[in-house]
Amino acid sequence: MSVTQAKGLHPRTQAVHHGTRRSQYGEMAEAIFMTQGFVYDSAEQAEARFVESGPDEFIYARYGNPTNRMFEDRMAALEGTEDAFATASGMAAVNGALFSLCAPGDHVVAARALFGSCLYVLDLLAKFGVKLSYVDGTDLNQWKEAIRPGTKAVFFESVSNPGLEIVDIAGVSKLAHAAGALVVVDNVFATPVFSRAVEQGADIIVYSATKHIDGGGRALGGIICGSRDYVRGTAEPYLKHTGGAISPFHSWIMLNGLTTMDLRVRAQAGNAEEIAKAMQGHPKLQHVGYPGLPDHPQHELAMQQMGSGGTMITFEVQGGKDAAFAALNRLKVIAISNNLGDARSIVTHPATTTHQRLSDENKAQLGITPGLLRLSVGLEDAQDLIDDLKQALGN
Ligand SMILES: *Cc1c(COP(=O)(O)O)cnc(C)c1O
Repeated sequence: MSVTQAKGLHPRTQAVHHGTRRSQYGEMAEAIFMTQGFVYDSAEQAEARFVESGPDEFIYARYGNPTNRMFEDRMAALEGTEDAFATASGMAAVNGALFSLCAPGDHVVAARALFGSCLYVLDLLAKFGVKLSYVDGTDLNQWKEAIRPGTKAVFFESVSNPGLEIVDIAGVSKLAHAAGALVVVDNVFATPVFSRAVEQGADIIVYSATKHIDGGGRALGGIICGSRDYVRGTAEPYLKHTGGAISPFHSWIMLNGLTTMDLRVRAQAGNAEEIAKAMQGHPKLQHVGYPGLPDHPQHELAMQQMGSGGTMITFEVQGGKDAAFAALNRLKVIAISNNLGDARSIVTHPATTTHQRLSDENKAQLGITPGLLRLSVGLEDAQDLIDDLKQALGN
């Protein structure tokens, strides 16, 4: 096998080439090694490989696989970490990153504004004896108060789902590192294109590859990026024994997604900015939330941290749930669904779907109101999306 190295080259070049492993056939496109196992030349070789596997030696696809390794190497290069481990879904990545790290009695500080399933994983950690403190992620003072000497880790979404609150990665990292805590960031909404999380102090970065990395709403996948010690010494043993491995077929889909990710995400963010500006001040909307708009409470931080407002927008529809549902039901181009990062624009009513499980009090705290809609902006013509939103709202 030959392995293509594109370290030191620009991210767009890395996203196309880095980590490609070519067999003796010299195939151009990445091969899908659709195999769970690998044949050994001898019993001695099998024994030796179970003691220690070389970088291009595999045992079993739950542990590692050449197609999965290509995806891991490419993501690590893009994110600027030493290594990465690919997982079956974004939640397998969040679960793997946190559970592999924590033991009963450990203390974790987390932002309150999180994706519903991330909150579920934190509840599970608490059930197994991990002590959790929750903070308003946008308030550095709350982080400062909650982090204490010996805190094991902090966890947050750099841009929260669905509220689009921005957490100051550099600010929280400084506080966490002073206490010896690791910084674990769910960076899905920021996307690998706009991420500089490592530079800003993050130790472990987690993505749901299901979103912008695939970009076509086809396959589930996830990735944990971090130091070689953490990825191979902590995350991998947990994931390989508990079964969170990604399918080689899905890694292949993600590898193909990565080749166009930069173009897609920048075009989607451009569309999002155009739509947010066009919809701002619409008489049927109480509010348009977009980190790229100057009235977003953390606009400056968003620009500093990501250099973009991203691909997601929130709308607060006047008239609550009934008005929001009526608008959803009139949409013609934008689909009602709950994925995001897809080339197709997708709108979600978080209060009744992705965040349904939360108590009314929690929803209110996180700004998940009955009139809130979350729009994942796709690759359609921005004007068609604006027209669709306007006709759905009744102009
Ligand atoms: C979608 C999502 C996840 C979970 O990813 P899956 O691939 O659906 O398991 C985790 N965090 C955030 C912020 C997400 O948007």
